[in-house]
Amino acid sequence: MVDIRSQYLRLQPDIDNGIAGVLETAAFIKGPAVKKFREDLADYLGVPYVIPCANGTDALQVALMALNLNPGDEVITTNFTFISTVEVLVLLRLKPVLVDVDPLTFNIDPDKIREAVTPRTKAIIPVHLFGQPADLKSISEIAIEHGLAIIEDNAQSLGAKCNDLDGVRKMAGTIGNIGTTSFFPTKPLACYGDGGALITRDSKLAETMDMIINHGAKVKYHHEIIGVNSRLDSIQAAILSVNLKNLDDFIARRRRVAAIYDERLGSVPGISTPFAAEKNTHIYHQYTVQLDPSIRDSVQKQLKEKEIPSLIYYPVPLSLQKAFNFAGYREGDFPVTENLCKSVLSLPIHTEMDPEQMDYICTNLLNIIEHE
Ligand SMILES: *Cc1c(COP(=O)(O)O)cnc(C)c1O
Repeated sequence: MVDIRSQYLRLQPDIDNGIAGVLETAAFIKGPAVKKFREDLADYLGVPYVIPCANGTDALQVALMALNLNPGDEVITTNFTFISTVEVLVLLRLKPVLVDVDPLTFNIDPDKIREAVTPRTKAIIPVHLFGQPADLKSISEIAIEHGLAIIEDNAQSLGAKCNDLDGVRKMAGTIGNIGTTSFFPTKPLACYGDGGALITRDSKLAETMDMIINHGAKVKYHHEIIGVNSRLDSIQAAILSVNLKNLDDFIARRRRVAAIYDERLGSVPGISTPFAAEKNTHIYHQYTVQLDPSIRDSVQKQLKEKEIPSLIYYPVPLSLQKAFNFAGYREGDFPVTENLCKSVLSLPIHTEMDPEQMDYICTNLLNIIEHE
C-alpha cells in the first residue's frame, strides 16, 4: 500500500544526517531537533504554535484535556473514522455523539451535526478523512452559533487546504481551536516510529497543552495541572524536519497517481472513483473507490491473487464496534457510513509509484471488474 523503504532510499543522505546529528548531541528528549521541527511545522502551516507529542491519539486526548470539559459533556464526531476519537472521549468520561457522513466526500455531514447539537454539546471533532478536508466553513458556522469548540483531527490530511468561516483558504488543521495530527509511518507527514502534534493559534491553549504533554509542568518537578507523558523524541523530530521539506513534493506525487487512477478508472461502470469537493483540496492520503457490496470482497481477493494489495478503511462503523456496544447504537442508525463500510476499497497510493506498477494495478482491476 505504501513504500516507505524506497522513499527512505531516495532521501537517505538527508535523513541519515538528521539522525546522526541527534546521536552526536545525545539530546534524545526535548532536544534542539524537536524545537527546530516545531518551528518548521508552524511556519509551514502558518500558525504561531505547534506542540509535538507522542502520537495522534494522545494529541486528541491532550486537546480535549486542554478544553476543560466536564464528565458527561457531549462531543460530536464522525462515525466513519479510526477508533482514536471515541477511545479518548470515553477515557475522559465525555460522551461521543456519532453522526453520519456525506456520501461523496466520506466526511462528517454538517446537516447531521446540526441535528445532533443539544444543550450538553461542547465540541465538534471533524476528521479530514483520506486526504480531503471536511467542510470547515459550515462546521465553523455551527460552532459559532452554539458556542462549541472545534478540534480538527488532521492525521490524514496534513498539507491539504480548506476554507474557513470567511471563505479564506487555509491549511487544514489550522482553522478550529485546535488541530491534531499523527506522524505514524503511513501518514502524509511521517516519521519512523510514533509521533504526533497539536496545532493552534491560541496562546493560552498552547501554553496549557505544552504543560499537559509534559506531566503538567512548565518547570521540572513543579506540576501545575494533571498531565501525561507524551513527547515527540528528537530522532523522530529530525526525520520529520527532512520529510516536511519534501511534503509538497510528496503531495504532488500522490496527486499524479490519483490523476492516473481517475483517468483509467473514472468512467468504468461498477467503480466510483473518489470525489474531490474542489480541485487541489484533496491530497489523496488514500485512493478509495466504491464497488457494489456484492462484488467488493471477491474483487479484493482476486487483486490479492495478483499480488496487488488493497485495504478496507473501515470495515466496521464506530457505532457497531464491540468496544462501543454500551452506547446502544444499532444497525441502520447510520445508513451512509454502513453502506461505505460495505463498498469501499482503498488501492495502493504512495510517493514512489511508477507507471508500470500503476498500469499493472489498473489493467488487472479492470479485468477483474469486467468478469464480475
Ligand atoms: C492514525 C489516526 C489517528 C491516530 O494516530 P496515532 O498516531 O496512530 O495514534 C487518529 N485519527 C485518525 C483519523 C487517524 O488516521
